[in-house]
This record gives sequence, structure tokens and C-alpha cells, in this order.
Amino acid sequence: MTQSSTQSETQPMPQAAAENAADTAPSMAAATNPIQLRNYQQDAVDATINHFKRSKDSAVLVLPTGAGKSIVIAELARIAKGNVLVLTHVKELVEQNAQKVGLLTESASIYSAGLKQKKAQGKTVVASIQSAARAVERFSQGFSLVIIDECHRVSTEKTSQYQQLLSQLIKQNPKLKLLGLTATPYRLGSGYVYRHHYHGKVGNTDNPVFENCIFDLPMRPLIKQGYLTEPKIFDGLSAQYDFNALSPSDTGEYPQAEVDALLKHQGRATKAIIKQVKQVAELRRGVLIFAATVRHAQEIMTYLDDSAALITATTPHLERDDIISRFKTESLRYIVNVAVLTTGFDAPHVDLIAILRPTASISLFQQMIGRGLRLAPNKTDCLVIDYAANGYDLYYPEVGQAKPNSRAVPVQVHCPVCSFANTFWGLVDNDGDLVEHYGRRCQGLVDSELQSSTVNIKEVQCDFRFRSKACPDCGSDNDIAARICLQCDSTLIDPDKRLKQVLNAQHHHLFKCQEMLLTQDGNKLVVQYLDVEGNDFKQQFYFDTPGQRRAFFAVFAMSHTRTPGMAHPKYHKVEDVLKDLKRFRKPDMLLLKKNKKFWQLQEAFFDYQGRYQLSY
Ligand SMILES: [Zn+2]
Ligand SMILES: [Zn+2]
Repeated sequence: MTQSSTQSETQPMPQAAAENAADTAPSMAAATNPIQLRNYQQDAVDATINHFKRSKDSAVLVLPTGAGKSIVIAELARIAKGNVLVLTHVKELVEQNAQKVGLLTESASIYSAGLKQKKAQGKTVVASIQSAARAVERFSQGFSLVIIDECHRVSTEKTSQYQQLLSQLIKQNPKLKLLGLTATPYRLGSGYVYRHHYHGKVGNTDNPVFENCIFDLPMRPLIKQGYLTEPKIFDGLSAQYDFNALSPSDTGEYPQAEVDALLKHQGRATKAIIKQVKQVAELRRGVLIFAATVRHAQEIMTYLDDSAALITATTPHLERDDIISRFKTESLRYIVNVAVLTTGFDAPHVDLIAILRPTASISLFQQMIGRGLRLAPNKTDCLVIDYAANGYDLYYPEVGQAKPNSRAVPVQVHCPVCSFANTFWGLVDNDGDLVEHYGRRCQGLVDSELQSSTVNIKEVQCDFRFRSKACPDCGSDNDIAARICLQCDSTLIDPDKRLKQVLNAQHHHLFKCQEMLLTQDGNKLVVQYLDVEGNDFKQQFYFDTPGQRRAFFAVFAMSHTRTPGMAHPKYHKVEDVLKDLKRFRKPDMLLLKKNKKFWQLQEAFFDYQGRYQLSY
């Protein structure tokens, strides 16, 4: 790929009347090249060129919704030397991308059954993956670059449509370069779509679709520079759902049946919420309502009139297209939808977003809001109402894991080894100070020690673990959920299996810890654990000698800290500990063994997830 000399010198449009010329003047001839790339769009293009100059590894550009991804795609298609194939999963994006390509360079060929065009030859081919995957053999002209829009949808499954097509294209050209674009480089369940991020952090080390994230633009500067509409969070809520009782699955989904059951008990809330949405909507032009389930959406529809329509995953294509076009011409004011309008839906006039569904994903929350941030004439802001109390900020960074509990917020924790500023889920107090974090392993990238002068420096993930369990065979640290030791391949003991054995033996008791109290008794610290029946178990610690103080650290402080990896103050006496109580957490369970008369602590379990869990 070569860099165009004219394009690289284009000046960023000052504020740019905030839209690319392409959006306002689609009829201008491509020959005059009417489009000036915005500064960040040019940066994304440059990052791509620089990357592929140095590397053949696949890459990802992260651009927020509304940043004009299709302009970046079109520019790359224009300056690429060989043939370019642009893939995406919905015909709306095929259309959009092909149109933008046509504005910058010669018109793109379109291959999409939905658009009734099937041309697989040409300098730039824009295709829907469903159509292309059904006719892989027709894409035989040889491509040098494949660009995948909404690339978080690519799965690593060999049998998936994307992978089948890609493996065919690589056979034709082993030097094929692969670029993905997305606003959300993250999938609940499988994690980040890339292995490494250029900010020096780890993405997904397991089996990512892409190797490198080479460009990542946050939303805030786009709003500041006037490229996106300012979101306004509305907070005079008349009613709100309480989804706190639900916990998301490992993949971050909330089970539909549980959501429906919970909503049944909050029946009147929906009526009150929609009443308010209607009031607020009187001064608004386009309203998107995100419902939690189909049943919920149907209930919402009963409170709205025929200025509203419902779209779900099973709405037939023609009907869906008709609803969207009536919405765009503003003959419909409301679209109620269930998990379908998060990507690829483009109605710039939307100026009210009502979120009535819980989500464990920050990206998904931001994506919903993103639907309302496009610029449109006479639009000054977009009102956002979060009736599901998701409580995210629009500017939250993605943590890379589903939110562990309803109070958790993203917190920054520096690694004591490499100093990387990790973003983890955690808890803060009223002053915003960190109280607890749930980070496990440092996400920083460090230079590998294995490098030599002849080998390229290879970055690897910092191996500091904030929370870990030690391998009984080799002593090395492993993730708290690991089953196999990373160092020696030993099977790590399944706590449940061991507990079952131990508890079958006599003189053992599993103490389910409900509460932990720290008090002073003379010159000693008493730690009292209480279970649900009020039984207690006590430990005591002295602080008179340096050895005793070290023992407190080793036996108690290290394992009970809420903020692993962060230094505690020195505790010289019992009072020092009592002043710092908020730094300590209770274990989930204690394994006790009866020794003659006394119970002795065998092991304390933290972060325990298994069948002996506390039932609250
Ligand atoms: Zn580190
Ligand atoms: Zn080991």
C-alpha cells in the first residue's frame, strides 16, 4: 500500500461544519475528490499504512460510532495498490461503504443479495459476508487487502462464514492483509478481538481474531470537536427498574426468563416510564427505546400509539426496512427495539435514547447511546435516559470483563512491577477513593526477557498477578480460576473436590463466613469471624516484635487485602490496623479442623465460586 501525497497533506477541517463533505454533498463528482478527511480519519489511515509497512499481522482500528468509518475505508481502498475487498454483515453498511468508496475513487462493485447486485470483480468490491460466503469461488481475482467493517462480529470458529472466506482468500494470496474496523473491539464472553493494543496493553491472549489494535479513538474528543452531538443524561426519572437482583451469565447476558419474571413484579414501572418518555418526547424528533425482552417490548408498545413501531430479531426484513425508512422520514417518532439497533442503524435525527434494559457491557451501553450522537440539522443535543440504572458513564473505558456486581465501577490500579495503569472493576467510596479492586493479572505489555540482539524485541504480558493461587507442586502463581498450572502443567486442585474429601473425613468443618470483626483486646488484635447462625471463630495477632508484625502481614494482611498490589501502611500496633479497616475483606469460607479441643484454621477461601457457596 502506498501513501497518497495529496491526501496526507489535507488539513483537518476546522470544526468541519462538523460533517464530512460526503455527508452533505453526495452528488459531487469523485474526480474532484470533494472529501477532506477529518484529522483523526487521516490519522487512522496513516496508522494503517505505517502498520502494514512494517508488519503483515492483522490489525484493528477502533473508531466510535459516528466517526465516519466508511470514509476511512474508502480512503484506504483508494490508496491501496491491489484489489480491496470490503466485508460487512448488513446490507445498509454495504451500501454506505460502497457509496463512500464511489465518492473517493472509482465506484465499488457490490456483492450483496439484499441489494440485488452480484459483482465480485473490480478494484474495490464491497460485499455482504452472507452473500460472499455462499459464493467463495467467485472471489478469485486476488485481493491484497480485506477490510472488515464491524469486525467484532468475526468469530474464530473455522466453520464461520468469515473464516471460510478468509482462508480461501489467503490461499489465493498468502500475503493478504487483514484490517478490521469497529467501535467495540470487545465481545462479552470471548473478550477483546485483538491480542495487543498499541497503548502497551494486553487484549486477548487466547485466540484473538486480530493481532494488533493500531488505532483507538475515544468518543470524548469527537464530541468536543463537534463531530458528534453532545449527549445529555436526563436525571429526573419518574420511575426506574431495579435489575440488581439479576446477575449476568459468563457471557454478560441476562437470562430472558429471569428478566421477564423480574419485570412482572415491576409492572407499574413500565407504564410510568413510558408516560414520562412520551412527555419528554414532545420536544424531540426521533426516539429509540431499548427494551429488555420481546415481551417487555410488546408491553411498551401497548402504551404508545401508531407513531411507534417495534423491531425485534424476528421482524421480517421488508417490514424492518419499511419501519426504518418511515422513522427516517419522521412519520414514525418511536422505534422500540430488542437488541437489534445497536449497530449499523443510521438515523441521524435521533435525539432521545431511552434505555430500559440492563447490560453488563460498557461498550453495549455506549453503542446504544451512540445511536443518538450523529449530527443532524437543527439538532443540538441528544437526551439519554437510563431507566435500567446501568449507571455507566459515556466515557468509561472498557474494562474487558463483564461487570461483577452492580456497584462496581472502572478503577485504575498501577502494577507494582511494571507500573502499567490497569483498568479493573472495583469499588470506590463516597470521595471516589479506591476501596477494592477485582483485578487479577496485570494487563501491561513488557519487553520479553527472552530477547537477544538477533531477535526482534517481542512484547509479552507482564506476569504480575494481583490475585492468584499458588501451584502446590512448583509454587508458581496462577489465575484464581486456573485448573492447570501454567508453569508445570500440574493439575491444580479443584477446591470443591478437595473440600468434599476433607469434609467426609472427621473433625473438619466448613465455616461459611458472614461477617468479620476486628477488635482490640489489650495488646492484641482479635479477628472474629461469624457465620449465619452466629457461631464464631477467632484469630489473634500481636504487634510487639518485628517478627509478630511480619507474621500479621503474611498470615492476614496479604490474603485479606481488598487492594492487592497496592502497598498498605506499616502497622506498628493494633490501633494502626483498626484505623485501616476498610482495606480488609472477609473470606467466603474457612476450612477448620478440630485439634483436641480447639478448632484450627486450615485454609481461608477468597473469590470462591463453587458448590459450597454461601446461600444468602
Ligand atoms: Zn505489570
Ligand atoms: Zn506448578
